[in-house]
Amino acid sequence: MNDVLFLAHTDAGGALPRAALEALSAAKGLAAALGGKLDVALLGDGAQGAVAATAGAGARRALVAAGADLSQARYGADAAAAAALVKASGAGIVVAPHTSRLARVMAGVAVRVGGRIDTHVTGLAAEGGAVATRWFYRQRIEGTLRRAERPWILLVDPGTAPAHAPSGAAPAAEAVNVAVTDAEQRTTVTGTRQPGTGKSTIRPDAKLLFVAGAGWTKKQPDGAPHPDVAEKLILEFIDAAGASLGSSKSLVDQAGEGQKIFEFMTHLNQVGQTGATPRHPKGLATCCHGEEPHVVGWRFVGQRRAVNLDPGCGWARGKADVLYVADAFAVLAKVNELLAAKK
Ligand SMILES: Cc1cc2nc3c(=O)[nH]c(=O)nc-3n(C[C@H](O)[C@H](O)[C@H](O)COP(=O)(O)OP(=O)(O)OC[C@H]3O[C@@H](n4cnc5c(N)ncnc54)[C@H](O)[C@@H]3O)c2cc1C
Repeated sequence: MNDVLFLAHTDAGGALPRAALEALSAAKGLAAALGGKLDVALLGDGAQGAVAATAGAGARRALVAAGADLSQARYGADAAAAAALVKASGAGIVVAPHTSRLARVMAGVAVRVGGRIDTHVTGLAAEGGAVATRWFYRQRIEGTLRRAERPWILLVDPGTAPAHAPSGAAPAAEAVNVAVTDAEQRTTVTGTRQPGTGKSTIRPDAKLLFVAGAGWTKKQPDGAPHPDVAEKLILEFIDAAGASLGSSKSLVDQAGEGQKIFEFMTHLNQVGQTGATPRHPKGLATCCHGEEPHVVGWRFVGQRRAVNLDPGCGWARGKADVLYVADAFAVLAKVNELLAAKK
């Protein structure tokens, strides 16, 4: 019952996504704390080769799904493969990354294997048995969960554990046969579409979260708004810094108010109480007032800095580590210049 299975899928290139390597660290730590054995199970294209990335985790076995077309994320095939891997391992606890591919299927897998599932797990420990932590009520209350039912599937949130760094030899891959009907494989992914102009601005793995607030579209000290300049500065910066783009609610809501909007920005970028709670080591807010419903989304951002013309803005009231009282247009133009010179 104390044995742990780490289950993940490969990405399109046949490698393990970063979220999977983080979940592997969490699984390894839990197995060690419980005194149980660790198994590894992978599905997707190149799963056999990806076992090498789990080297050094101390896994006793590496199970690989075979016999089904798992090159695309498809509910039927993915659920059948994950259920077969969980059954083949027999471990009581299954730790998997909370990626969109697994989040879609693992609740169904829990039903198929007669187990239970908890999602958005942020910590795993052994306290007289396995315990998992997660946040509730828009990240305001942290709860500790235990369950008697097994297998217990735990989807670990990205950014909550260090990524596993492979070392030494990995266990040999053992193929587990997956029976999938034609109906379960009939969906074909023909492509992906992104909202807005198709520019991908949300990068969960980025070291920096760059937040743009409504101030970017407001009248500036010269009496006129300069949204075109703002757009150029913001895009240049997030591309040069490899940053993820967040937004305040006021800025993304402008789309519905007929005002100038940034085409690359959607409600998916919104950070805060009614938006996302991303995890980045650093955050920089610009032209954003730092009101509580926005800042509550910064809960897991490590170091917080803000640029605002107003020395009395919300960030100044203990919400940022550093507040630069400055014109964000001038600051970003200078920073972009320095980044371009560094290239
Ligand atoms: C129930 C509820 C839920 C909410 N949920 C969220 C949420 O999830 N996320 C969220 O963001 N908000 C949320 N809000 C709204 C929130 O309270 C604020 O209204 C919003 O965050 C304000 O956005 P802002 O700071 O971009 O805009 P503003 O308040 O308009 O602030 C713009 C700022 O830009 C600065 N500025 C202007 N020009 C410059 C310049 N050149 N250089 C530097 N600074 C400049 C100004 O000084 C000002 O501080 C919620 C509100 C409610 C009631």
